[in-house]
Amino acid sequence: MIDSHCHIDFEEFDTDRDDVIKRAQEVLEAVVDSGTSYDSNQMVLELSAKYPNFIYPSFGYHPVASHTKTDEEIKLAQNFLIEHLDEYVALGEVGMDYYYVRDKSFRERQGKIFTSFVEIANEYKKPLLIHARNCDNKVLNIIKEYDNIPYVVFHCYSGSLKTAKKIMKYDNYFMSFSTMVCYSKQHQELVKNIPVEFMLTETDSPYLALSREERNEPAFVMRGARKIAELKELSLEYVNEITSYNAKKVFDI
Ligand SMILES: [Zn+2]
Repeated sequence: MIDSHCHIDFEEFDTDRDDVIKRAQEVLEAVVDSGTSYDSNQMVLELSAKYPNFIYPSFGYHPVASHTKTDEEIKLAQNFLIEHLDEYVALGEVGMDYYYVRDKSFRERQGKIFTSFVEIANEYKKPLLIHARNCDNKVLNIIKEYDNIPYVVFHCYSGSLKTAKKIMKYDNYFMSFSTMVCYSKQHQELVKNIPVEFMLTETDSPYLALSREERNEPAFVMRGARKIAELKELSLEYVNEITSYNAKKVFDI
């Protein structure tokens, strides 16, 4: 099993990061730690060097913060991506978030910044790890114009089934489902209607635990996978086999 999206570089893990990773190593094949800022990308790189062939880095810039940054700050992060091309498995998370960002001009700036990251993924043929919230169809309309992006993953997919069906027209586009599937009726409905062949598994740790008080961690990806198996009436082994195969293909790990 693979946790294809988490943030174990975050400060929530500062006191016991090695223990969390040890628990993950007991049950998982690999973890993709997704950078969310210039500083976070460096941390992710350091962590992946400490745990080679287990923690794989992706470098991104979180959409909820991107629109408040200057062009120089964005450029700095993008230069880092271009200078370290061989050192990360995907570009992300990057994307657009219409839930947290409501202001029209902020949304426009967020969209422009996202597109500039998409152009890098396209130019350098990097898989794209996407954060989209309340604007999945808009995001799809942007990325489908770029033909050289090898793979796209909509992380923690929470769009409509209609958009999911459009996503599934591309055999190199995937949706990852998080531990949220354990309790979200919306995510459960999506999982029932989307073939496991288009799925990856993730936790988005430290977020999306089963309760607000609890901190999520990569080893808990099992909980989500078990729920997916139950909802689709498949064995856990089959869900594991297919989602791990997809993740390995997308990230070339
Ligand atoms: Zn995330």
